[in-house]
Amino acid sequence: KAKENQGNTYEFYNYKMSEQMDKNIEIEHKLKHALEKREFILHYQPKVDIKTNKITGLEALVRWKCPEKGLIYPNNFIPVAEETGLIKKLDEHILELSCLQIKEWINEGLNPPNISINISGKTFYENDFLDRLESILEDTEVSYESISIEITETAAMKDKKYTYKILEQIRSKGIKILLDDFGKGYSSLSYLKDFPIDVLKIDKSFVDNICYNNIDSSITRAIIDMAKALKLKVLAEGVETEEQLRLLDNFSCEEYQGYLFSKPLPVEKIEIMLTKNTEKTEAI
Ligand code: C2E
Ligand code: MG
Ligand code: MG
Ligand code: MG
Repeated sequence: KAKENQGNTYEFYNYKMSEQMDKNIEIEHKLKHALEKREFILHYQPKVDIKTNKITGLEALVRWKCPEKGLIYPNNFIPVAEETGLIKKLDEHILELSCLQIKEWINEGLNPPNISINISGKTFYENDFLDRLESILEDTEVSYESISIEITETAAMKDKKYTYKILEQIRSKGIKILLDDFGKGYSSLSYLKDFPIDVLKIDKSFVDNICYNNIDSSITRAIIDMAKALKLKVLAEGVETEEQLRLLDNFSCEEYQGYLFSKPLPVEKIEIMLTKNTEKTEAI
């Protein structure tokens, strides 16, 4: 009887797995097509200075504008793109889109703030990543100082020597580096001390609970203190309430992102926000 059950379970998983594989092949096919048809768009989420409430930068976040299904969010296709190797092309495409947007804003006299672009660990570890990055910036005539790169702590720690080497080269050009989802990747502190990075982004999972969980609030505070000791900037992701913001301010966190200030917005809406942001600055 037990054997029978095992057999069933095995077949069930097998069936589930092949079903998922079929699904992935289908998504991969659609992603390729979407790249050719240029169906990817970017939304932009502001980064905000906690003290002044001014926008200090934007993060580019990809969305798939699918003609049949509408707007699809990255958690639904980035993992498949990573599994199938399509992520490299997608990340390069997103880099190019971001640069073209910067250039367009400059041409329109909008004076955009620095824009950070998420790079998958898979793309980061491709041996021509640096070359591709350089040629995209040169082709689009965007200055290195206009962009930043976000790489997750987990990806960065996978091969510390390689990461160190590449980040140093990227940074020597004037591109800033943000360590994304920080706190989840179990960084070795001795490496972090020497890593050529600029900003730690505290993962949303800690920020979520800072108001009622002592451990999460202690960790958040410790990350902020550590960032200061290492002379790094620190930004909290996923801030949704005034209470969280007040606590982060008490902990001397410098910047934040989150729905409290703004969700990631399409180009037209972010343009309005940027215009207002500079008006406010000039009025001071
Ligand atoms: P991430 O880089 O950590 O981005 C933060 C995510 O949290 C974004 O989700 C953002 O919309 C969301 N978020 C920001 N503030 C809040 C908040 O207050 N509350 C809540 N509930 N969520 C908030 P999104 O855009 O769905 O992106 C998810 C992840 O997909 C990103 O996490 C990043 O890892 C990946 N991703 C997004 N765009 C790209 C891209 O262009 N290239 C690559 N390689 N990955 C990307
Ligand atoms: Mg990010
Ligand atoms: Mg993040
Ligand atoms: Mg995250």
